[in-house]
Amino acid sequence: MTMFTTEPKSSISSREKALEKKDVASAQGKLSARDVSIYYGSTAAIRNVTLEIPERKVTAIIGPSGCGKSTLLRAFNRMNELVGDVRLTGQVLLEETDIYAPGVDPVEVRRRIGMVFQKPNPFPKTIYKNVAWGPKINGYRGNMDELVEDCLRRAALWDEVKDKLNKSGLELSGGQQQRLCIARALATRPEVLLLDEPASALDPISTACIEELLDQLKNELTIAIVTHNMQQAARVSDHTAFLYVGELVEFGATEQLFTKPKLKRTEDYITGRFG
Ligand code: ADP
Repeated sequence: MTMFTTEPKSSISSREKALEKKDVASAQGKLSARDVSIYYGSTAAIRNVTLEIPERKVTAIIGPSGCGKSTLLRAFNRMNELVGDVRLTGQVLLEETDIYAPGVDPVEVRRRIGMVFQKPNPFPKTIYKNVAWGPKINGYRGNMDELVEDCLRRAALWDEVKDKLNKSGLELSGGQQQRLCIARALATRPEVLLLDEPASALDPISTACIEELLDQLKNELTIAIVTHNMQQAARVSDHTAFLYVGELVEFGATEQLFTKPKLKRTEDYITGRFG
């Protein structure tokens, strides 16, 4: 497996440190949060969350607005540190590697764990260049045309754009732009895709298209999706995590969580009694 530590070989590597931690862990997911707390200044937005994101499944993170869904999602690829005064305690592991360990390169973390945001944000460049951008800066030496086509196909966009690859990505519809952003994220060959409300700015047809796409992508990738839309969580996910005021209340198989929640607080939320 490719590692992303940049530490000198002589020091105790982050991998070794992470492996020590792994010994105490059980039922490890592809991506794991271990006792994670996240603070904006002195205010905790996430408190003591331990969560395993299973490999090649879709995990939904649900909960009322402001409960910390996006903050937790961003912790999974070190995006919070781009936001400002944010501090994380605990561990986030990608398989056995602590992604916050000293010497781990955050850029490489984000290559392996891609992200798609609520508002489609293509670069003001051509459709082709949007997809080719990541591989290009990573020094990709293969056939770029083939890679661009492959990513656009996997993002279910190829047929709609194959004759206009040199048009600006900004000329596409909102739903197409979001699929372009997914194609762009796929181009660095990530193992995990994080999506933060990826369809909430889209019309119902585009939303259905994204949901269908997630179902296909999970055959090759691990997916975590934040959504405030419980029907969407129920439709697309295999597992669901319910967050409330910064804490993980319940995590389980989606069907179980939505039909037989273990905790009253979960039941109250999914039946619309609060939140
Ligand atoms: P959700 O995604 O569930 O709506 P967020 O993760 O966006 O929740 O926010 C969780 C809490 O953290 C909220 O109280 C929010 O106000 C706060 N928060 C989010 N981003 C920032 C930030 N950049 N600076 C300070 N507080 C923030």
